[in-house]
Amino acid sequence: MKIYIDGKYYDERNAKISVFDHGLLYGDGIFEGIRAYNGRVFRLREHIDRLFASAKAILLTIPLSHAEMMKAVIATCRRNKVQDGYIRLLVTRGIGTLGLNPKSCKAPSVVIIAGKIQLYPEEYYEKGLDIITVPTVRNLHSALNPAIKSLNYLNNILAKIEANNGGCEEAVMLNSEGFVAECTGDNLFIIKGKQLLTPPLSAGALYGITREVVMGLGRDAGMSVAEPNLTRYDLFNADECFLTGTGAELVPVVKIDGRIIGDGSPGPITKALVAQYRTLTNSVGESIYD
Ligand code: PMP
Repeated sequence: MKIYIDGKYYDERNAKISVFDHGLLYGDGIFEGIRAYNGRVFRLREHIDRLFASAKAILLTIPLSHAEMMKAVIATCRRNKVQDGYIRLLVTRGIGTLGLNPKSCKAPSVVIIAGKIQLYPEEYYEKGLDIITVPTVRNLHSALNPAIKSLNYLNNILAKIEANNGGCEEAVMLNSEGFVAECTGDNLFIIKGKQLLTPPLSAGALYGITREVVMGLGRDAGMSVAEPNLTRYDLFNADECFLTGTGAELVPVVKIDGRIIGDGSPGPITKALVAQYRTLTNSVGESIYD
């Protein structure tokens, strides 16, 4: 695999970042996780838009233009002959002193890794996930806004550990007011009658690209799509529930905190949305090889 770092390609063993990079020292940086399907990068423009929005929020100047960043992602995929894969794009604050002040960092670094995707086991999609609410509360938007896809994922990692300790793969994270925010690496949806509901961004959710696509699919299917504040009670009494994310796509959830959702198996609307999402990912995107 060839890794892009600041305009050059390196072998895996030579792809290195300084120990003085504030991305490592302080988690000072941003990232994106992107998928390629059938030789096309899915929703690349939206991912780069979100990267630039995260950069703006943390006052980080990305050394490439939006168009150059899109080209760099495509070029890295081409270089690695990616057909179906996962792309990790990072922008770090760059090399500085040991002090936390980003003023000491003269040049941000751009890293692009385009490789294979580690898929969730097929069983998760067939049987659905059993998830739990964890004690770690999602970051306050007034402290570190969860809309910023920053390199500091400790909040999510702690919740992930708590989920694993409880014997689960994923966790429901609540915000400081007790409303549902999202999961550790995925957005959360419920279906109630003809309504498709997901927490608002203000509840502490990432502006998920998959979330946005699924909301569009729901609208196309004639569902009423809304972003109300949701409580655990709403989750327990949903007809169906699923998670969305670039890596996970759509994963049905069949149990939350011991409460069985619907009839305990992936629901019909969830299954239909999974199929529609897969059709879409296989047919649109920025072409890598044209
Ligand atoms: N929430 C969090 C915390 C995430 O890290 C992610 C991305 N893995 C998502 C939601 C889903 O976002 P997307 O659909 O853009 O991958």
